[in-house]
Amino acid sequence: MTILESTAANQYDAIVVGSGISGGWAAKELTKHGLRTLVLERGRDVKHVTDYPTGMMSPWEFEHRTQLPLEIKEANPIVSKCYAFYEGSTHFFVKDAEHPYVQEKPFDWIRGYQVGGKSLLWARQTQRWSDFDFEGPARDGFAVDWPIRYADIAPWYSYVEKFAGISGNKDGLPNLPDGEFQKPHEMNCVEDYFQKQIASKYKDRNVIQGRCAHLTEPKDIHFQQGRAQCQHRTICERGCPFGGYFSSNASTIPWAAKTGKMTLRPHSVVHSIIYDEKKGKATGVRVIDANTKKMTEYYARIIFVNAAALNTNLVLLNSTSNRFPNGLGNDSGVLGKYVAFHNYRATISAEYDGFLDMKTEGRRPNSPYIPRFRNVHKQETNFLRGYAAGFNAGRGTYTNQDGIGADLKKNLMNPSWGGWHVGSHMMGETIPKENSTVQLDPNKKDPFGIPQLAINMFYDDNDEKMIKDFHEQFTEMYTAAGFKNIRTRDSKQAPGLDIHEMGGVRMGKDPKTSMLNKWNQLHACKNVFVTDGASMTSTSTQNPSLTYMALTARAVDYAVKEMKKQNL
Ligand SMILES: Cc1cc2nc3c(=O)[nH]c(=O)nc-3n(C[C@H](O)[C@H](O)[C@H](O)COP(=O)(O)OP(=O)(O)OC[C@H]3O[C@@H](n4cnc5c(N)ncnc54)[C@H](O)[C@@H]3O)c2cc1C
Ligand code: SF4
Repeated sequence: MTILESTAANQYDAIVVGSGISGGWAAKELTKHGLRTLVLERGRDVKHVTDYPTGMMSPWEFEHRTQLPLEIKEANPIVSKCYAFYEGSTHFFVKDAEHPYVQEKPFDWIRGYQVGGKSLLWARQTQRWSDFDFEGPARDGFAVDWPIRYADIAPWYSYVEKFAGISGNKDGLPNLPDGEFQKPHEMNCVEDYFQKQIASKYKDRNVIQGRCAHLTEPKDIHFQQGRAQCQHRTICERGCPFGGYFSSNASTIPWAAKTGKMTLRPHSVVHSIIYDEKKGKATGVRVIDANTKKMTEYYARIIFVNAAALNTNLVLLNSTSNRFPNGLGNDSGVLGKYVAFHNYRATISAEYDGFLDMKTEGRRPNSPYIPRFRNVHKQETNFLRGYAAGFNAGRGTYTNQDGIGADLKKNLMNPSWGGWHVGSHMMGETIPKENSTVQLDPNKKDPFGIPQLAINMFYDDNDEKMIKDFHEQFTEMYTAAGFKNIRTRDSKQAPGLDIHEMGGVRMGKDPKTSMLNKWNQLHACKNVFVTDGASMTSTSTQNPSLTYMALTARAVDYAVKEMKKQNL
């Protein structure tokens, strides 16, 4: 492939690969420090508000009333499994045929390739991790010890929470540290009832309101971003014209652009990172223009890789040189290994026949959360680590469609209320294992001539035991609360649909067993930083993206200080 335009004009202070949740933060922080920053994004540009074509549409304005036509489902068997993929949001998801990968074991890889990445699509749940999470591997010995603890990242959680805008209660739980919260969403009467029932019957189990990246009480910093209070429309995955939820598009990317220091280059597929053996560091990246398929090199003093966990693995694996024949920084041989995800297979539902004089009004882009209660203070089960869970209660209506004319109209206008339904889903930690891997397929290439990623991730016996325990414990808790007709379910879904893939470029103290040091810096190539999910040593039970944001802001702060000291 001919390399074009590799001139001094392509020189920047910093390069960021990817513009999603973590890349947006890297861009914002690097430009804040005055660094001329090039943000490379493989997908198209998506401008806040103007590029949300369905953001203000009502269901009846869609050709199929928001349902997906059969031919789209059949053409996209993988992405169609994602609950957020429907007629209003298809334009923000990668379609199956566009970007092929190899499923060595079944894996549903859900991706958003555009400016903003998956930050346009996420469900916005944002819990801090605690020391029980960061100390887990050291305690159980199932992975390497994290090189950081909660105290290292706590100030950075505060920093990103204030800017992003997070709603929630201060619950005072050691296993789920409190953050900088705006006012919480309300619980309905049955959720409130369940909270009280669990509190009265268990010392160590809690039902709390979810913490989520919605502006419930916007502050000056959010108005300065051009964002406004969330209107509770619950169609967030279409992009929110109000900026009611945090996305890179509404928040970090335009903030970085305002500095005048950011160059955003969409349609730029990063092929690999260039390593200069004489200098002993990375000098830039090779980029394939997605439209022309021509390759260009761009250069910078530091590089942040934020392509989302598995694509970050791919970029590093594809960055080979004499010094690093097995991928950039891969002296340890662990690159692409110890990947893991979250176990969302188990659900439980039931009915409740109380509160029939109460109903819910309006919508809420959030729901209650039950933090991990298994194996927190000591190992008490036959499986390692634990699970958190979602919880929600709601009351449906039934409409009598009998009759014609005025009778039918009267029936349609007077729906009757059904009983209360409750439900929970499990969010279990899976264990990073050496043989849980992503690799470059030796034969298959993607449309840009880059090797396809071969994914080999799987559930193990620990996950099966956890599912059983979730069903047992929640049956007990639901029974204690007087819920009836309890139904447990195991979806048996493949890994991937959780959309919380992590690891492969893990952090650790020892360069012999890890890729990154405690600053998310490659042990063996100090001017390259990885701050997305690839860097995670273990997966915890909490949603991960808030932690990626905090790690990113922390790593940029360190990188800039090191640059000033001429160490990078
Ligand atoms: C439906 C849904 C619900 C979710 N709910 C939650 C939740 O409630 N809480 C939570 O914490 N997380 C949730 N997530 C996960 C969350 O979206 C991700 O953890 C988060 O977006 C990861 O951030 P990132 O920066 O690593 O990747 P992304 O946000 O995906 O951004 C990566 C960017 O890199 C670009 N890129 C990839 N490869 C290259 C390349 N070679 N060259 C150039 N650019 C490249 C991509 O196009 C993309 O724009 C959810 C995700 C989805 C889809
Ligand atoms: S619920 Fe809030 S954040 Fe979501 S689309 Fe509506 S206004 Fe925007």
